[in-house]
Amino acid sequence: MTAFDSFAVVDWSAGNDRGATPKKDAIWAGAVIDGAEQAPVYLRNRVVAFDWILALIKAERAAGRRLMIGFDFPFGYPTGFAKAVTGREDPLVVWDFMAAHLDDAPRSNNRFQLAAKLNRHFPGVGPFWFNGTKEDLRDLPRKGTARRDFGLPERRVVEMRTKGAFTCWQMGGAGAVGGQVMTGMACLARLRARFAPQIAVWPFEPLEKPIAFVEIWPSLIDPVVKAANDPIRDQAQVRLMARALARLAPDALTRMLDIDAPEEGWILGQGFETLLQDAAMPDLKPPPLSNDCFALPPGVDWTPVPDALARLQAALHCTVASQTVAAGDAQGRILARDALAARSNPPAANSAVDGYGFSHAAVGEGEQRLPLVGGRAAAGEPFAGSVAEGEAVRILTGALVPEGVDTVILEEDVATDGKQIAFRGPVKKGANTRKAGEDVKAGAVALSAGTRLGPAEIALLAATGVTSVNVYSPLRVGVLSTGDELVASGETPDPARTYDANRPMLLALLADWGMEPVDLGHVGDDRAALKERFDDAAERCDAILTSGGASAGDEDHVSVLLGDAGSRADWRIALKPGRPLALGLWQGVPVFALPGNPVAALVCTLIFARPALGLLRGEGWTTPQGFTVPAAFSKKKKPGRREYLRARMGPEGVEVFASEGSGRISGLAWADGLVELGEEAQEIAPGTPVRYIPYASFR
Ligand code: AMP
Ligand code: MG
Repeated sequence: MTAFDSFAVVDWSAGNDRGATPKKDAIWAGAVIDGAEQAPVYLRNRVVAFDWILALIKAERAAGRRLMIGFDFPFGYPTGFAKAVTGREDPLVVWDFMAAHLDDAPRSNNRFQLAAKLNRHFPGVGPFWFNGTKEDLRDLPRKGTARRDFGLPERRVVEMRTKGAFTCWQMGGAGAVGGQVMTGMACLARLRARFAPQIAVWPFEPLEKPIAFVEIWPSLIDPVVKAANDPIRDQAQVRLMARALARLAPDALTRMLDIDAPEEGWILGQGFETLLQDAAMPDLKPPPLSNDCFALPPGVDWTPVPDALARLQAALHCTVASQTVAAGDAQGRILARDALAARSNPPAANSAVDGYGFSHAAVGEGEQRLPLVGGRAAAGEPFAGSVAEGEAVRILTGALVPEGVDTVILEEDVATDGKQIAFRGPVKKGANTRKAGEDVKAGAVALSAGTRLGPAEIALLAATGVTSVNVYSPLRVGVLSTGDELVASGETPDPARTYDANRPMLLALLADWGMEPVDLGHVGDDRAALKERFDDAAERCDAILTSGGASAGDEDHVSVLLGDAGSRADWRIALKPGRPLALGLWQGVPVFALPGNPVAALVCTLIFARPALGLLRGEGWTTPQGFTVPAAFSKKKKPGRREYLRARMGPEGVEVFASEGSGRISGLAWADGLVELGEEAQEIAPGTPVRYIPYASFR
């Protein structure tokens, strides 16, 4: 039971009251309540902080929500302390001890006197040190170096693993945490007493209660805090740490909580810094597109396709935010940041076959005999001991290579009576073993930003222990059909009406590309209605595809409206089928105004909109994979424009649809792709190499 609804983080301080105006090095709290990030709260002293936490717990309990609160001080002392002071190994008894012995008031406390008193429980000098008072305190040395023989570790295990952590023995001086531990434990002990049946303290108690206290350390997300550049660092720390906890994938939080540290406690997220930092990262808010981004160089009559594509590539960039999701839920999404392998694949050397393992050093040429050791190595059941040189061990596929073994021989190449094996040398050193990390090394980039995640990528993430990934939000693409003549398919038998084919075609295409299609319906040739539809679309879409009404005629309201908005660019592209194509921004959202003819609409979408949408969704510029194949048709083509023919592979080469008539929608369905003929003049006969691009290449 680790799912929490709300998260709070308290940056504790042992200092005296800091006054009414928010200051650094005071107590600060951040919270994400039921998914909503709260503004950080300045808590001028520990009495105010206690009341704030109390009120938060009450409010969350009243709302029926589970709350996790993180505190940035150690929940326990190094092993041995609890027993020596309280007679028990229970760290929560130490908390009660602090509550009973610490006199804490907003402007003074007796923490140095208490440290001196605690030192009397230990032999030698120490462990506590630093006397912040004027008079000398017996048993509390002023210098850490004066301490000796107190018989306790200097640091907790988790602190030895955490760069820059201070010890809890230092009671004062820059960065010291000794006073925070005492005052913090005392405060939490009182809260526990208040809400006894409702609070569980991690990792000492199972988190089976509505409130969890956990130990955190904001330095784990330091790079994100630094990037936030907040003049009050504590404020950024609590805000970002609360966000990190709230946005961690539940399985990631579960793994972080899976710690055995019954006396010393642990820092939540230690060893999972990148996961925490990822979750703390703000959603990338990309800059808007500029209004003239689609402008083509003036003076060009018919823009060649490559120039138009280069223009699009330069004009557009990713416009969607990113978020962290569980790797298993990331199918079809695009990585916003590199995914780093959390573990090597394979994690350790293992056997690639069923056979026998031994040390290569003991094996020569010709007939070999090696005695078999008892036991075996199997996948998931490693061989316990080590194998001496000159001995062999039974090993199965996927089993960890036991100590002393560096080479495996296939069982088919071996004769055995169960006591020894016989085979013929030489055997290559390292044969039939897979080395640790030979596929992917821990820490290496398993998949780079911009990768679209499919089943194979999801397998790689799983195998390398990447459980959550930062991905872009799906690109929402609106599809709108325009024209008075259009009706929904089947609506009327009236032959004067055209069934709307573009909208279902484009919606299906977008879904196929892993984007989020948004059906914007159909509007007639009515400027006011169209404008209203655009306004609505701009709120819910990252890009808009319209078809019909894009040429310069009086009825072509899409063109006129985009022109009024000041961002229209009419693209007269040297392309068949294709023109007209208009591009523009509606309230910052790019609009691709496609021709109405379905054949032209599809070709323009595949050739122009597809790579443009790829840029917008963070995938980068995509170029469809084409193949040079022999033509199974004849065609004479004039120079000056590029042509796309509906095509599919046949036994003699690539075939094209019988008619180039752009009204022949059946040809789109007949085809499996397009033949691309370049700008130059061409005379194609059967056997002439041509470029064929399957529809699948546009995915
Ligand atoms: P336009 O670009 O508006 O001049 O339209 C060119 C041709 O495509 C006309 O014959 C339109 O009726 C037809 N057309 C426009 N939109 C669609 C659509 N959504 N589905 C099928 N045909 C369309
Ligand atoms: Mg029209």
